[in-house]
Amino acid sequence: MAKITICGAPVLSRGKDKFLKYKGKKLFFCNDLCLKKFEENPQEFIRSKHTQLDQKIIASLLDP
Ligand SMILES: [Zn+2]
Repeated sequence: MAKITICGAPVLSRGKDKFLKYKGKKLFFCNDLCLKKFEENPQEFIRSKHTQLDQKIIASLLDP
């Protein structure tokens, strides 16, 4: 599975990555706060400007 950095920030060193799985994709975050915000409202987070992903990936993460 390819690494996806949701924030556009570089993925941290191995073992220190902040990530979770969402809709079968492993999403990486810049920090705990970022991860927490996502957990509180994933759909809103994905639509926010904070998300720096390919449009195709964003589309696959959004609810239909
Ligand atoms: Zn972030």
